[in-house]
Amino acid sequence: MDDRVLVDAGTVGGALSVAEQIEIEHALITHSHLDHTVGLAFLTDTLAMIAPDRRVTVASISPVVRSLQSHAFNDALWPDFTNIPSGAAPVLGFRTLAEGNEARVGGLWVTPVPVEHTVPTTGFVIHDGQTGFVYSGDTGPTERLWRMAREMRGLKAIIVRDRLPEPARRARPSLGAPHARAAAAGDRQDAGGLADLGLPHQAAGL
Ligand SMILES: [Zn+2]
Repeated sequence: MDDRVLVDAGTVGGALSVAEQIEIEHALITHSHLDHTVGLAFLTDTLAMIAPDRRVTVASISPVVRSLQSHAFNDALWPDFTNIPSGAAPVLGFRTLAEGNEARVGGLWVTPVPVEHTVPTTGFVIHDGQTGFVYSGDTGPTERLWRMAREMRGLKAIIVRDRLPEPARRARPSLGAPHARAAAAGDRQDAGGLADLGLPHQAAGL
């Protein structure tokens, strides 16, 4: 929908060419888990190495932004790219989005809608004024997310990834895949027949 806005960053390097990566200006992140954020590590490194005049701004709800700042880009796990190449003009920025409020992100309108997961997580309702889609990370969407989807004109897709990473599934069997799928299937009926593409990240390529 917009080549400059990325939604989650699990496989940026594998899915996009370097030329495409450099064009990314905004990254909407649903939650802090590595399989949704590790691409940010390599994307910021790529920018610093070959395009230090560009910047990617990571946007999410407050707890997700704080988690990335304190646990990822902390000069221990990974360099703090909000100071590289300089604090005045870094390759990485952070932006906090208010839950439930529509915000302009690049050429798109984005509304974060918190959803259930083992860590603070948001889904996103995204549109460009003409068409749009609903994106939910590792969880079945909530009723609130479905309601917003139903009210959305020009809805093209609902992208759901209803599984937990293996360690979380082992730790919390009640949240395992069959349970999540059953819940999502029930939600789908509630959605009134809206298409559910259920794309993995690689295929979504967003
Ligand atoms: Zn997760």
